[in-house]
Amino acid sequence: MTNDSVEKLSADAKIKTTVSKCPNCGGEAVFDAKSQKLHCPFCGSFFEIENENKVVENEIAGLLQSAKEWKEAEVYECKSCGAKEILSRNEVAKICPFCGTNNVVRSEDLAGLQPQGVVTFKIEKDEAGNIATTWAKKGFWAPRDFKRSATPENIHGVYNPVFTFDVETKSSYKGRLGEYYTTTNGKTTTTHVRYFNVSGDQNLNFDDFIVQASYTMPQYRITQISPFPTNGAPAYKPEYLRGYSACAYSKDGNVCWKQCKELMQVEIEKKILSRYKYDVKDYLQVNTAYYHPKYKYILLPVYVGNYTYRKKLFNFYINGSNGKIAGNRPVSFWKVFFAVMLAVILIAVIIFFSYTTD
Ligand SMILES: [Zn+2]
Ligand SMILES: [Zn+2]
Repeated sequence: MTNDSVEKLSADAKIKTTVSKCPNCGGEAVFDAKSQKLHCPFCGSFFEIENENKVVENEIAGLLQSAKEWKEAEVYECKSCGAKEILSRNEVAKICPFCGTNNVVRSEDLAGLQPQGVVTFKIEKDEAGNIATTWAKKGFWAPRDFKRSATPENIHGVYNPVFTFDVETKSSYKGRLGEYYTTTNGKTTTTHVRYFNVSGDQNLNFDDFIVQASYTMPQYRITQISPFPTNGAPAYKPEYLRGYSACAYSKDGNVCWKQCKELMQVEIEKKILSRYKYDVKDYLQVNTAYYHPKYKYILLPVYVGNYTYRKKLFNFYINGSNGKIAGNRPVSFWKVFFAVMLAVILIAVIIFFSYTTD
């Protein structure tokens, strides 16, 4: 930590809340993933976060009504990539975790709902950096610079807001599926479809089905790096966010619940179709009823990495709880170019020798 940043932190601390101030030296304490305690980087002290409570599930009928506004947080917007980030009031945005620029300004937007629970970071930043480096090196076509840039400095811990839903579903369905069969007439073989009707009931229970509540990280990436230990997560305490930022909540609970039903429908259809042996689906009609839906609104720990290659932004995401990683690696223009050239030369050589040896 440079002298500059020490000065900056203590200047900020004067006007901010006291919750994360180190009682020993007054420095800014941050959440430590390894010990799950608050840690003061200035004097090295650790402080237990008193929290007996676990996040509880809520009846969906009260979705959003009982929600608390998140007063101790402010929204910052990145003018380069549009990402919206939430920081507690005693922090100042420096670098956008999603695009790496420092074009970050305070926004007038409200921070939205206060999370009910937090799945805390278990993996430390250095470890996340190692995971990213290993992953980046596996990309054969990735530019060398990308492999070098996947380091802890370019990775940021960001809490991602989600709704999780518990629900029992009962569906009835009917449809028409088909199986191929062939007939042979002399030398010609023809393929036909034999259709058959299907109908029945399918029950499926969902526990902690995750729906992304922010547009900043895509839902499919969250699904790819799942699971997260969402059951029994500790109840929200601002201490867990010290040293991290959070994505701004941008989809309300009702929108998420609607999306949850659409995503569950895909799972239900898959389950129904897995009962049959078929080659083609003519149609499948499914009617689903939902029983005892419950929700919780929580934060998930994600390390975000960014890399810009030929003016295109690439992000990758690491589960801050188990280290699972997902993202696109950039493809090096020159590597592909030389590979193609090499292939062309090889073919030319082969053709040359096959002609000359004849
Ligand atoms: Zn201290
Ligand atoms: Zn940005």
